[in-house]
Amino acid sequence: DLPQIKGAVKFDSIVFEYETGRPALKGITIDVKEGQSIALVGHTGSGKSTIINLLCRFYDPVQGRVLIDGIDIREVTIESLRSQVGIVLQDTFIFAGSIRDNIRYGRLNATDAEIVKAAQAVHAHDYIMSLPDGYDTQVEERGNVLSMGQRQLLSFARALLADPRILILDEATASIDTETELKIQEALKALLKGRTSFMIAHRLSTIRHADEIIVLDHGEIVEQGNHEQL
Ligand code: ATP
Ligand code: MG
Repeated sequence: DLPQIKGAVKFDSIVFEYETGRPALKGITIDVKEGQSIALVGHTGSGKSTIINLLCRFYDPVQGRVLIDGIDIREVTIESLRSQVGIVLQDTFIFAGSIRDNIRYGRLNATDAEIVKAAQAVHAHDYIMSLPDGYDTQVEERGNVLSMGQRQLLSFARALLADPRILILDEATASIDTETELKIQEALKALLKGRTSFMIAHRLSTIRHADEIIVLDHGEIVEQGNHEQL
């Protein structure tokens, strides 16, 4: 098993191709210190999701290694890896059940107080309390009870409660209003604090939050630096 991690991540000379025989990553090296936030940006097909796929071991590299705290992730169980790497996906995953159950999905033993605290930290508490049954409000998988922005904040609350050392965030491209945008940015700050994160970022406001921005093009890193440098 992977021991309790601190969250340093290294992609060491990664080469990867899907079955197509066309390389999706052509020698990627990224060195991430614990607690750092990385924004991955680049055109469609540039390799952003592929980097994330390798970190979660949905695939293994053809060449090179992915290390967490210096440990090659191929040498630990997938369960122990994934239990410490949290993902917030673009297509926010909501299941039929109460808001409360949706938030505590990653940590079933969480108390009500912990659930409320997580929701407050990501600014989801107020809208939840304005729903007819508050935290007991029933939502549907594809239902319209929640707006896109509200779904996103809910998934942030879930991720915060699960408290992974490494967090992956695949940002939605869907347009949201300015007020929600501000809330999401505030929530993001709370969520990133104290953990290593990789964000597939589309919004400039998100990219600004990152300690390091990595620009990919055709499976290669073409630019790297912080917001001021780029
Ligand atoms: P987007 O912004 O559209 O999400 P991306 O930067 O995440 O793009 P990737 O999904 O990493 O890009 O794709 C990198 C390359 O690998 C592309 O050429 C893509 O067509 C190819 N690719 C991605 N997933 C697969 C797959 N499951 N099977 C075969 N090829 C794939
Ligand atoms: Mg992608």
